[in-house]
Amino acid sequence: VRFADLGLNDRILAALDRKGFEHPTLIQAQLIPPILNGKDVMGQAKTGSGKTAAFALPILHLADPDIPMQALVLAPTRELAVQVAGEIEKLAEDTDIKVSCIIGGESMRKQKKSMEAGGHIIVGTPGRVMDLQNRRELSFDRIRFAVLDEVDRMLDIGFRDDIRQILKTCPTDRQTIFVSATISGEIERLGRQFMKEDAEKVE
Ligand code: AMP
Repeated sequence: VRFADLGLNDRILAALDRKGFEHPTLIQAQLIPPILNGKDVMGQAKTGSGKTAAFALPILHLADPDIPMQALVLAPTRELAVQVAGEIEKLAEDTDIKVSCIIGGESMRKQKKSMEAGGHIIVGTPGRVMDLQNRRELSFDRIRFAVLDEVDRMLDIGFRDDIRQILKTCPTDRQTIFVSATISGEIERLGRQFMKEDAEKVE
């Protein structure tokens, strides 16, 4: 399989070309088609598997440059959020889609400015995202894609309530994507609660 065979648009293919990515990894081949088809997906994947591009590429393909804050990506730590935002930014270089990173320990003002400058895709840690939402500086009204990256680690850290509250606040007609190295019973239950009935599970 090549990326071009998956139906991704030329701007995305150009970025992949520059990065030297020729073939999708296993998780990318598994996740990209159902996400492009509008499905909710629960994917089992570890760091190093190419999981970031697996959810980022189809979202970039489907994203509408006229809609700010249409995708939310939650990651367990600041470091991971920065890394994920950086990777999505590189893949988005030829598109009109902009990425904002929302993490604790950095100036709120800077992050607000970055969101106002575009911010189609918001990447952040659950705590900071909830904080900004409570202050009405972040709105989930137009979220079309909600991604939980490393769900197992987010639950280990104790982001359970933040995650639930964030997902409850997002519009119900969104697409929901979970990625996790392990899929526990609790993650399965979260999926049943927050994903559509025809969600796909990929292991
Ligand atoms: P991740 O699992 O998302 O942390 O990605 C692990 C590493 O693999 C990152 O450095 C990516 O840039 C790289 N990568 C992702 N997809 C591909 C691909 N299809 N071909 C080659 N490298 C890739």
